[in-house]
Amino acid sequence: SRPRLLKLDGAGLAGVVSLRSLADARLIRELSAQSEDVVILGGGFIGLEIAATLRAAGRNVTVVEAVDRLLGRAVAPIIAAHVRQRLEAIGVRILTGTTVARLEGDNGRVSAAITSSGERLPAQMVIIGIGVAPNVELAEAAGLAIGNGIRVDQHMQSTIPEILAIGDAAAYRHWFTGGDVRLESVQNATDQARLAARTILGHAEPFTAVPWFWSDIGDMKLQMVGLTQGGDSHVVLGDLAENKFSIYHYAGDRLLGIESVNRPADHMLGRKMLGAGFSPTPQTVAGGPDALKAALAAFSENEPARAAG
Ligand SMILES: Cc1cc2nc3c(=O)[nH]c(=O)nc-3n(C[C@H](O)[C@H](O)[C@H](O)COP(=O)(O)OP(=O)(O)OC[C@H]3O[C@@H](n4cnc5c(N)ncnc54)[C@H](O)[C@@H]3O)c2cc1C
Repeated sequence: SRPRLLKLDGAGLAGVVSLRSLADARLIRELSAQSEDVVILGGGFIGLEIAATLRAAGRNVTVVEAVDRLLGRAVAPIIAAHVRQRLEAIGVRILTGTTVARLEGDNGRVSAAITSSGERLPAQMVIIGIGVAPNVELAEAAGLAIGNGIRVDQHMQSTIPEILAIGDAAAYRHWFTGGDVRLESVQNATDQARLAARTILGHAEPFTAVPWFWSDIGDMKLQMVGLTQGGDSHVVLGDLAENKFSIYHYAGDRLLGIESVNRPADHMLGRKMLGAGFSPTPQTVAGGPDALKAALAAFSENEPARAAG
């Protein structure tokens, strides 16, 4: 995939960058040495990881996000609100429900971002982190079905079965939710790579990997397992004030996924539970990690085949 770009007056000015490659990362580091003020477009994982890093290095950082909350594509509101509160506490300015109308320059270099509400934000560097677009041109030219990425089935085969697609570029119906997804994560890409290799070798098993993801934003290690959209209730373990907690999301009595902040053991246990097809009751979750481990062990004894994956 490649970073989505904004068609914006001033987007071609020097100092306007996005992050995908190592070269991009080096350029951002180089530019940050000459920048006191940085504006970041997009309150997703990439924008917020950079915001926390540059703020820790003493820059004045403003994040401009179009919708009314951060991390809208990725995490539940309770996590997004926590991340916002901690970033603001270290001095990151966050403008939600706001876009950038245009960029101003000085001698070909960016000097300010003008927001949709008319505020002028000084900026010697503007980082655009508004998501990625799948590289589908080659697949399209080959006549493969495209729909938010290259359409693949449960074996990673496209509509021309001799051509397989995986990773950020592949869109598929997810076994866990029944919804169409295109996931952008290392886990998704590497698990699909393994399955695609097996498909090529003549195996017929479908893709059933449990999705998981992580992001390090300042002093928050976020780890997600499962797909939590569509949840209607949740249970919290740990303490938000201590910056160490996990949210267990449910749809009815089915555990959809777990979002953890600085609780890696909850995340790892969650991967085991969801991988085994085990959905503990909210009451068991409320009993804490030991109760969960015991319940998973009992489940694995009763259903060893499923638990072994
Ligand atoms: C800054 C950043 C931070 C991230 N952090 C995390 C994280 O913390 N955790 C996580 O799970 N994921 C993270 N991701 C996402 C993760 O990197 C991607 O999901 C993963 O790299 C997808 O792998 P891929 O092979 O599908 O695509 P890519 O890594 O994009 O690789 C595709 C390659 O194909 C090449 N290519 C494209 N078109 C053609 C063509 N026509 N011919 C030949 N080559 C072509 C591209 O140049 C590219 O090198 C992050 C991504 C970024 C940019």
